[in-house]
Amino acid sequence: MKAELAEWHALLNKRRELMISPDYHCRTLSEGARGMLARGVIDAGEWFELAELVTAAYSFAVEERASELFHPASQYLVQDQGLARVGSCTRSVLAFDADRRSPLSITHGEDGKLHAYGGPAFSWLSGTIEGLTLVMENGRRFELVEVGRYIEGGVFVQTITDPESFRLLLDVIEHAQEDGAAVRAKHLQARAEVSVFCLCPACRDHFAKREECSRCEGRGFVDRVGQTRPSAAS
Ligand SMILES: [Zn+2]
Repeated sequence: MKAELAEWHALLNKRRELMISPDYHCRTLSEGARGMLARGVIDAGEWFELAELVTAAYSFAVEERASELFHPASQYLVQDQGLARVGSCTRSVLAFDADRRSPLSITHGEDGKLHAYGGPAFSWLSGTIEGLTLVMENGRRFELVEVGRYIEGGVFVQTITDPESFRLLLDVIEHAQEDGAAVRAKHLQARAEVSVFCLCPACRDHFAKREECSRCEGRGFVDRVGQTRPSAAS
């Protein structure tokens, strides 16, 4: 294989870069493939194959990221197995209360999965994020409980834990959509993302189906899987 093409494939396989910024990574790959076509390194048929690989990588990254419960813009309490607060995490930097000078950075590793890194330059692997559980290298486990998130424009909003507030928000979104206020509806939907609840996957809160829905028992929403509620004590 030509050196330039081999380099392109090496870049394609960089899971860490892909997962941290799928848009940027795939744009770089697309531009690289177009460049090789323009310079005659590859022909049109080969270019088409590369373009398909970029599309597949992008879909993979978007799906993977959608399945991740950890949100980089969220603020979390860190609880031990006894549900006691032992630390906090803001914008992907996690610090234990007992040792706030040695924080951990939560980011994607070479394997494309979320890990926690410590040390002076966050280069030491210290643990792994499984759902919203931090599993340290020594086997200790901690739960990350979302308390809020920085949304568009850097506004901090608290995680919605009250079912009635969430129901009300869904109704407001529905009205905004009916009024054709698309921007407002989108903004409110981003707000609804910051909650221990999510839209019922069975009826999607559709008025006609909701009443009969056994999954959400007519509420239109269900508990978000894997998310622990902030306890009153913390
Ligand atoms: Zn339902």
